[in-house]
Amino acid sequence: MFALRTRSPDSRARTGTLRLSHGEVATPAFVPLATRGVVKTLVPDEVAGIGFQMVLGNTFHLLLSPGPELIARFGGLHRFMRWPRPLITDSGGFQVFSMGHGGVADEIKGRRRAPGGEHAGGGAILSIDEQGVRFRSYLDGSLRLLSPERSMEVQAALGSDIALAFDECTPFHVSRRYTETSMRRTHRWLERCLSWHAEHGPPGQRVYGIVQGGVERDLRLESAAAVAASGCDGIAIGGSLGREQAQMLEVVGWTTAELERLAPERPRHLLGIGDIDGLVTGVELGIDTFDCAIPTRLARHGVALVPAPAHRWRLDLGRGIWRSSPEVILDGCACPACAGGFSRAYLHYLVRRRELTALRLITLHNLHYVARLMEDLRTAIDRGRLAEVACALRAGAPPGEAVSAAG
Ligand SMILES: [Zn+2]
Repeated sequence: MFALRTRSPDSRARTGTLRLSHGEVATPAFVPLATRGVVKTLVPDEVAGIGFQMVLGNTFHLLLSPGPELIARFGGLHRFMRWPRPLITDSGGFQVFSMGHGGVADEIKGRRRAPGGEHAGGGAILSIDEQGVRFRSYLDGSLRLLSPERSMEVQAALGSDIALAFDECTPFHVSRRYTETSMRRTHRWLERCLSWHAEHGPPGQRVYGIVQGGVERDLRLESAAAVAASGCDGIAIGGSLGREQAQMLEVVGWTTAELERLAPERPRHLLGIGDIDGLVTGVELGIDTFDCAIPTRLARHGVALVPAPAHRWRLDLGRGIWRSSPEVILDGCACPACAGGFSRAYLHYLVRRRELTALRLITLHNLHYVARLMEDLRTAIDRGRLAEVACALRAGAPPGEAVSAAG
């Protein structure tokens, strides 16, 4: 399923190929979000044309609407959304627990809320126990249960190439004791996911377990060992990775070091990280795939990715300073926004007027940016020059030029 090609001599980075039932994915790779079965504002050919080989659909949202039964009637999510290439689906754990983060935190602090109250749209967690999570749908207030078996059943109906095991995503502010208890339950849930899948899973679907453990080193190592021992096909790193970048990288580093020892040949996915620094350093730490809302979400807020580390890689086209700027977002970028010659002034005007075309153009640009960045990183690893290229990228070399800029 996963063929490693090159290992970097001076870091944990590696290149490889994921061979999945709907095609291959060259790694390290970024996986754009198709949360509700669509990479927002784009059609599948555009996503593939930019160079992405896999997207991620969201079990929680698709479960609530339009529902797995309807999608299965269309032959699964690939056919429903007309994306013929590899697909990951997450387990729904992250969203269901995000909805209840406030609720979980209050429960731990002893401040219980009235069940079902306070959450926007009426969504709320009612209980978390060994069986799973009971919650109220944010769409219609209906009572739902998401359990390891139900999550796998939904992902089987969606027909993804990679299913993620159901986990509890513990937030940063919970106690160590809660993180530990929850992590062990997540390990038991992983066993239930794998048992369900062994009996009912669609042929060819792979299952990734998820390492939890918050920011506690010993818990991360325990979780890495439990997930590696479970025999799942790949390993994802989830949960709270800390408050800031440095801590996030430390937590990921502990985990990948342990996985390098226990399951070096299995693919590793980092959940929810996709800022430029995080991608570059994540690759150095031995992550094979990443998914994140950042590139596409920023675009929908009028923010373009640019090689400007001092500005957190962001160019806010909504700002007045671009009102009469003739420049494109990024000179030399081959995306339709830049190669098409659309000025910052024009994009600024469209963003301010909330024209949908602006969000599309900036989404195309941001995804181009990330795709070229990942290509640079793969090329650099294969040529044994990751350290220089990572350094050039961090210093602000534009993706697509970083490999030559590194000399
Ligand atoms: Zn561009």
